Amino acid sequence: MTSIPVKLFLRSTKKAHPDIPLSHMKSVEIGRSPQTKIKDTKVSKKHLRLLANCFARSVQVTQLGANPSWVQGSILKTDETRNIAPNDILELGQDDHRYELIMEAPKATKDPSQTHLEDRALVHPGHWSMALIRAIKDDTLKLFEDDSMVVIRDAYPKARQHYLVVAKDSIDSLKEMDLENVALLEQMIAKGHDFKAKHPDLEFRLGFHAIPSMARLHLHVVSQDFDSPCLKNLKHWNSFTSEFFVPADVVLAKIKSDGVYPQISGEESKKLLSTPLKCHKCSYKPKHLPDLKKHIVLKHYPKKMRE
Ligand code: AMP
Repeated sequence: MTSIPVKLFLRSTKKAHPDIPLSHMKSVEIGRSPQTKIKDTKVSKKHLRLLANCFARSVQVTQLGANPSWVQGSILKTDETRNIAPNDILELGQDDHRYELIMEAPKATKDPSQTHLEDRALVHPGHWSMALIRAIKDDTLKLFEDDSMVVIRDAYPKARQHYLVVAKDSIDSLKEMDLENVALLEQMIAKGHDFKAKHPDLEFRLGFHAIPSMARLHLHVVSQDFDSPCLKNLKHWNSFTSEFFVPADVVLAKIKSDGVYPQISGEESKKLLSTPLKCHKCSYKPKHLPDLKKHIVLKHYPKKMRE
């Protein structure tokens, strides 16, 4: 799984020395120098070599100098290499030169297509966008579960029936899918159809949001009446009726043929989500969402069709 890399750097625990920034896969040698402001002669000029992997969130530390260093209190001798993780303590020579490896989340970006949801999960497990990951662990919410997926009800249903088929694999969105995920996708879609079949008098669509707001790949199985108080605004409406809602079979066919599903840009997403209101079943163009919702129930999905 690819993700936006985090920022890694060493911070002096006593704030005695400046931070040492670490770039992804760029080897740096640190020691006694104007950069670190370490003047202690027990620390060599080239004391340690550091190689950060900002995707794996670890730093490879190699001892170069004659005097040792300590990693988490354990000695590191010349030519020895060890990996350190965020919050680990690295000491060069003596106590005064103690650093902690700090990890910072990538800066929030206004373009949702550039935000990797699992990154937020690692840094903010209680973040709202992680709610589905938490929900699929809650036995009281599960309508179905097997090795690869969980089916739950959408907590803010946008229609009379609205299910979510949520993958257990750590995949967040369509852009992370490839040929290896075809079987999972087929199973999720088949399960979505099983749930749709429970309501033969309702019409459904199965699909994915082009840019989801919640982490963990989830298929919407949503009835087309949009008769729900939770559907409150233009963005909600367009997310289920414009091309922002990508039909499940379209995604499957694209991944099977091309091996990937192309990601739309933040700009395209904005445009789709701000499309003027229009009935998804006829040419009616209402002024306001409540008018449209009334129209849909009266003209297309009368209440008597309700379960
Ligand atoms: P998406 O825009 O595709 O990420 O849609 C996420 C869906 O998750 C929305 O339809 C939300 O109503 C729904 N949702 C948000 N929080 C929860 C939750 N805790 N449990 C179940 N569904 C949720």
